[in-house]
Amino acid sequence: MSRFLILGSANAVPKPGQENTHLLIESEEKVVMVDCGTNPVSKLVEAGTSILAVTDLVLTHFHADHVGSMPLLIMDMWLEKRSDPLTIHGLQVTLDKARQLLELFSWENWSGMFPVNFNVIPDDGATGFISSSGCQIDALQVKHLIPTIGLRVELTGERVITYSCDTEPCDNLLTLASSADVLLMESAGPGKGHTSPEQAGMIARETGVKKLILIHYDSRQDEKILLDQAAKNFSGQVLLAKDMLTV
Ligand SMILES: [Zn+2]
Repeated sequence: MSRFLILGSANAVPKPGQENTHLLIESEEKVVMVDCGTNPVSKLVEAGTSILAVTDLVLTHFHADHVGSMPLLIMDMWLEKRSDPLTIHGLQVTLDKARQLLELFSWENWSGMFPVNFNVIPDDGATGFISSSGCQIDALQVKHLIPTIGLRVELTGERVITYSCDTEPCDNLLTLASSADVLLMESAGPGKGHTSPEQAGMIARETGVKKLILIHYDSRQDEKILLDQAAKNFSGQVLLAKDMLTV
């Protein structure tokens, strides 16, 4: 039995009860975190798991609301005496910066540090960069302000969930979302590098997904307006992501 859980659902500005967007994907062999927003440690405890259980961390892009707490997560794993290796996945440019960030905290001097592997996702994407019994995750670059990947997650025999990450509408997003069961679509607003709820509805319709969940939206906006804007262009089910919502 697998689980796809939204740990945080806010855009770059969180509020009490709604943290920056980050996700947890659990399957038979893997516990995958996607991005590392504010306070990931408490969120994992709230989810009934622990930082020691996480096998893989995917960093979608190097913006502070997606990677800002990564050093804290790694330090806490070390303080909790983790011994299992952790694999961090991302584009080369993202992983280079992640490593630099950890170097600022002199992590090479943390005695008894557990092994961390870096898995580079090629610029033209990767099929099954995480692949284990029960779960396959593919990545393609989407169109944000800096190099960014979107994800297609197949929980074998159960469902396909696409996470757009931060992006404006683009061809690779259509590929990632094609006929998915659920499209988890950023809705930060119109303009360069992002998507509005209306555009999210259009993408959901074009790709033939069954359900649209808006995420990474301005949590201070009126919820009904956001939902109505998306529903204008998509006749399927539309929901707003919330922290701790199971997809
Ligand atoms: Zn971003």
